[in-house]
Amino acid sequence: MKIAIVGGGLAGTACAYIFRQHGMTPVIYEARDELGPGASGNEVGLYNPRFTAETGPEQEFYAGAFFEALKVFEVLEGIAWNPCGALHLVNDEKKAKRFPQTAQSWGWGPERMRMVHAREASEIAGVRIDYDALYLPQSGTVSPRALCGRYAEGVEVHLNHPVSDLADISADAIVLAGGMGLSKFPEAAHLPLRAVRGQVTSIQASAESARLRCTLGYGGYIAPAIEGVHCLGSTFQRWLDHSEIIGQDDLDNILRLYEYVPALQGEYAVSGQRAAVRTTSPDHFPIVGALDEARKIYISTAHGSHGILSSLRAAQYLAALLSGRGEAAFSEGLKERLSPGRFR
Ligand SMILES: Cc1cc2nc3c(=O)[nH]c(=O)nc-3n(C[C@H](O)[C@H](O)[C@H](O)COP(=O)(O)OP(=O)(O)OC[C@H]3O[C@@H](n4cnc5c(N)ncnc54)[C@H](O)[C@@H]3O)c2cc1C
Repeated sequence: MKIAIVGGGLAGTACAYIFRQHGMTPVIYEARDELGPGASGNEVGLYNPRFTAETGPEQEFYAGAFFEALKVFEVLEGIAWNPCGALHLVNDEKKAKRFPQTAQSWGWGPERMRMVHAREASEIAGVRIDYDALYLPQSGTVSPRALCGRYAEGVEVHLNHPVSDLADISADAIVLAGGMGLSKFPEAAHLPLRAVRGQVTSIQASAESARLRCTLGYGGYIAPAIEGVHCLGSTFQRWLDHSEIIGQDDLDNILRLYEYVPALQGEYAVSGQRAAVRTTSPDHFPIVGALDEARKIYISTAHGSHGILSSLRAAQYLAALLSGRGEAAFSEGLKERLSPGRFR
């Protein structure tokens, strides 16, 4: 079964990887001259579930995504995977309520997710942390850019190939995985896709920051240094949809670090930055499923800020729909929640 995939970011390449495992033949069409030129092109990304206080479809989706991703990262080489652990700092009142509820209701057990006091958080992090935190010892960092490359290994890829009319494509099914680019297709024009620009900043580690052993999330985030460089993320601009570099964004990323991790205040040389546009939906949940069943058109988009995990689980779900195998692993509630039909 030949499946055409429009878009060579995480959503598209993850589909290609999973579809091959199901015996299908994926073909990727990417508008630009490389894989992952858009939101998926960062060298460093953090993989974390999106936390919800309650159990339900969202929890089912992100928990499934997390454990499936660990299995995949285990076997892929050259993706700069570092399961160093993640501390999500309780730095506002909402998190003070939500994080302990998450730790309890998700039921992962303390070896996978637990609340820690600031003192234990400091021991885990290797630097002083002033907040209690939700700790996920198996979370960490991976390279989204490298993932796109690995996912697409052995797959037919057409670069510099913008698709403008789906009638031009000959395949048994089509998966639209083009992020914000999908709004140009009449088939997807009714979907309320929203752009959210973001910029990550690379800074040279200081003697103190080089001690950092796990990722820290505090609204922004910092990853442990790789070859002396930290990735600091990320700005979040709902009102912008361009990927030009904004100098102030680097400062904002650094100032957010100073505010929530005062132990890491210091002079940092900025050694790089990258900006791109995330695709989101009004209910902050991915849009995945059949867009037009009769024409065999499917979609995977709106992966927001959690695309590393959600693109992979979305690919597994689409593979189940296309192959007719494995659908039982996804509850009816989750299928409805993911469905593009929820916006009709
Ligand atoms: C600054 C920033 C930091 C982030 N940090 C993290 C993080 O730490 N952890 C995490 O999990 N997520 C993170 N994200 C989010 C994550 O990167 C995205 O959710 C993910 O990359 C989305 O993948 P995608 O394939 O849907 O979109 P994209 O990567 O944008 O891919 C869409 C692709 O489709 C192509 N395309 C569009 N239209 C067409 C067409 N007509 N024909 C052919 N090709 C087309 C585009 O060129 C593009 O390559 C971050 C995002 C940003 C911007």
